Amino acid sequence: MKKHNFSAGPCILPTSVIEKAAAAVLNFNDDHLSLIEISHRSKPFVDVMEKARKLALELLGLENKGYQALYLQGGASLQFLMVAYNLLEKKAAYLNTGTWANNALKEAKIFGETVEVASSKDLNYSYIPKNYTIPTDVDYFHVTSNNTIFGTQMKEFPATNVPLICDMSSDIFSRQLDFSKFDLIYAGAQKNMGPAGATLVVVKEELLGKVSRAIPSILDYKVHISKESMFNTPPVFSVYVSLLTLEWLRDLGGISFIENVNNQKAKLLYDEIDRNPLFVGFAAKEDRSNMNVTFNLVDEKFKTTFDTLWKEANISGINGHRSVGGYRASMYNALPLYSVQALVDVMQELERRS
Ligand SMILES: *Cc1c(COP(=O)(O)O)cnc(C)c1O
Repeated sequence: MKKHNFSAGPCILPTSVIEKAAAAVLNFNDDHLSLIEISHRSKPFVDVMEKARKLALELLGLENKGYQALYLQGGASLQFLMVAYNLLEKKAAYLNTGTWANNALKEAKIFGETVEVASSKDLNYSYIPKNYTIPTDVDYFHVTSNNTIFGTQMKEFPATNVPLICDMSSDIFSRQLDFSKFDLIYAGAQKNMGPAGATLVVVKEELLGKVSRAIPSILDYKVHISKESMFNTPPVFSVYVSLLTLEWLRDLGGISFIENVNNQKAKLLYDEIDRNPLFVGFAAKEDRSNMNVTFNLVDEKFKTTFDTLWKEANISGINGHRSVGGYRASMYNALPLYSVQALVDVMQELERRS
């Protein structure tokens, strides 16, 4: 039996998607060639790229609204600098909600002046800062919707007249938002979409072409748009499997359907953390992430027993990140509710044995 996979990333994908991907590696499109040995310029793959770009916009409700979807390489980490390279002329504002947000800010500093409008570093990023002021004279405001390492999630996004840029790597396609509030969204595939290798960038075209610096072609969003996301060889496997995952999501009922499932999974686990006297949550309650649940044992003496119990229960990937410690259960779209129930059962078993 497949393990209950709570990995933070690369992470669980739907079983049906993995089966289709495996078949395509052997014989893609019934052409008796592998997906990974055909030209990316061949009709079957060009169709994959077109569909993947279109479906991403469709699921986000951004079709025909001036946005373009791209599948780029270099991970979300390359977007930290590509955003600044393409958009930062003088000054940019950042909300510092964790390691990834801080890394994005660090890269932007290379390109211009930056303002950290607020930070939750004082309490090891266990909450989302609120009531901050966004300067009006900045080129953009950058936020991280979900802090994968710390288990916090922005439930609301500030109203602002400056372009809003969002790193949605770990919660894109997991909940309904008015995505048209954002001017640029990026997300590494490996958290909620597909295998590592592709990064989805959704950008409002009118935002581009305004900085005075020269931009190397491969780092220029406009170049990628003009080449329909085929400037150079794209990560074909990652793009194809991302398309399969997006089709899986569409056929289930789209983001509104999966949001409902994600809410049920989060409620099940957070209710147990709050009820069970042996456990304590890490993140501030109102900012808890529905994707990455961070929690600790109240008493470390139960660690060996707990670790044995969850491993025996076929659970994988819940060790916390080194900067938080404890445990982190990542519950991306493809994780079934019964996997969360398996973890809750183990937590209750530990309580019985304590
Ligand atoms: C994982 C992650 C990143 C880094 O992604 P890479 O694709 O490895 O560069 C950036 N931001 C967030 C929110 C993440 O979860």
